[in-house]
Amino acid sequence: MADKLDAYQRMRRFNQTPEPSGQPAAKRRAKKAPEAAMSFVIQEHDARRLHYDFRLELDGTLKSWAIPKGPSLDPGVKRLAVHVEDHPLEYAQFEGRIPAGNYGAGEVIVWDRGTWEPDSDDPGGDFARGKLKFSLAGDKLSGGWTLVKSRMRSGGSKEQDTWLLIKERDAQA
Ligand code: MN
Repeated sequence: MADKLDAYQRMRRFNQTPEPSGQPAAKRRAKKAPEAAMSFVIQEHDARRLHYDFRLELDGTLKSWAIPKGPSLDPGVKRLAVHVEDHPLEYAQFEGRIPAGNYGAGEVIVWDRGTWEPDSDDPGGDFARGKLKFSLAGDKLSGGWTLVKSRMRSGGSKEQDTWLLIKERDAQA
């Protein structure tokens, strides 16, 4: 499990940023019974460019995507979601200011939180195959959603792992 957070920990200096380090002691505290509902969080992150970080609890970490424009309730709108490094579970509670000069410098606030439920009984496999269908029960967002890996090339020179976040057609659309 620890190796999943290697990228997260490499990118940050925990003597400078107030973000959680994801060290084992903290992870033990965060551990929940396997039957407990899985959490999701969306953090508004006022970094160099404002974006929304969408995080789903899966296999002991928070799978994470940066969504420049944030989620859309319109099923006809596909929102670019750049898959980023796994974050520790306790990151779902994080709000604060990442100091200048640090990775992701800027203000982070929780925009929405709640629980999520995958449509299938193999969400880990779905994630690995690049298509996750699920429902959210949050304060702002609910109903069915799809995250699907995109073959689209992002504009920049850096190769990004791009996905799309799409609202399903339902009463919450
Ligand atoms: Mn971010």
